[in-house]
Amino acid sequence: MRIVLTGGAGFIGSHLADRLVAEGHEVIAVDNLITGFEENIAHLLGNPSFSYLRQDITLPFDIPGQVDWVLNLASPASPIDYLRLPLETLRVGSYGTHNTLDLARAKGASYLLTSTSEVYGDPQVHPQPESYWGNVNPNGPRSVYDEAKRYAEAATMAYHREFGLDVRIVRIFNTYGPRNRVDDGRVVPTFINQALRNEPLTVFGEGRQTRSFQYVDDLVEGLRLLMERGNHQPVNIGNPNEMTILQFARLIIDLTGSASEIVYRPLPVDDPQIRQPDISRARDLLGWEPRIPVEAGLQRTIDWYRTLARRS
Ligand code: UDP
Repeated sequence: MRIVLTGGAGFIGSHLADRLVAEGHEVIAVDNLITGFEENIAHLLGNPSFSYLRQDITLPFDIPGQVDWVLNLASPASPIDYLRLPLETLRVGSYGTHNTLDLARAKGASYLLTSTSEVYGDPQVHPQPESYWGNVNPNGPRSVYDEAKRYAEAATMAYHREFGLDVRIVRIFNTYGPRNRVDDGRVVPTFINQALRNEPLTVFGEGRQTRSFQYVDDLVEGLRLLMERGNHQPVNIGNPNEMTILQFARLIIDLTGSASEIVYRPLPVDDPQIRQPDISRARDLLGWEPRIPVEAGLQRTIDWYRTLARRS
C-alpha cells in the first residue's frame, strides 16, 4: 500500500512508519517539525519505500500519485506543547483535519484519525468506554487540544456520512516509549530523566490523580489492527493498568535504582483526576489487547534514555 502519514517524524508516527515500511508498504511521512524531529526518521531516509515531506498540513497540499491510506497523526500532544502552541493546535485539529480528509477523498483512500483520551476530559464515568461523551471544559487552557480533537472527530464522521469516506477513529491513551522527547514535558520522559540524573521527581498536586500507561509497540499493533479490521466507530487503544502518579513516581525510582526524592508542584488547570480505558471494543472488534507489562516497557524506555544521555 502507499500510505501518507502525517506527524510522521513524531514519537508515535515514526514508530508506525517503521512498522509499515517493515511490512513492505510505501510511506510518505509529512511533518512540519514543530514538535517532531528529523532524527526520529533519519534511519529510514535512505529507504526507497520511505520519503519525507516537510509540510504544514494546515495549508492545502497534494501528494502526487495513488494513495491507499491517509493516517493523520499530526498534532502537538503533550500538555506543555499544546499550551505553548494553542493556535497551531487548534489549526491542525481543524484545518489540518479538513486538508487530510480532502486528500483521502480526492484519492479514494481510507482515512485514520488519531484522537485522544482527552476527549473524555476530567471523566465522571470510570473506566471510559467509547460511548461516554466526556466532561470537557470548552474554553479552559486544555480546550485547545481537547476541543480540537473533538472537532476532528466530528469532521471525520461528517466526511464519512456525507461522502461515504472509509474512516477510522482511534482514541489513544497515555503512551510511552523510545523517541518520546526528553523535554516533552509528559510525565514518563520527565520522571525517567529526573531519576537518571538523581534530581527530584516533580509530582503535580498530591499525585493522587491516575493514568494508565501503554507501551508504544502495543499502540502500533492496535493501529494496524484498526486499519485492517475496524469500522467508523471510535476505538480506545490503551493499557487499563491504572496507577496514581505518586505510585508511578515510586515505580520509576525503583526501576532506575535512583537516589531521587519526590517533590510536589501545583496541579495544572483542569488536569484530569482519573483515566483508564475500557478496551472492550478493541478486544471484540480487533482482537487486540496490550501485551507488554508496564515494568518491561518502562525498562526498555529507561535503557533508551540511558543510551541517549551517554551519547549527548
Ligand atoms: N505530571 C506530574 N509531573 C510532571 C508531569 C506530569 O505529576 O512532571 C502529572 C500530570 O499532572 C498528569 C499526569 O502526570 O496528572 C500525566 O501528565 P502528562 O503530561 O504525561 O499527560 P496527560 O495525561 O495529562 O495528557
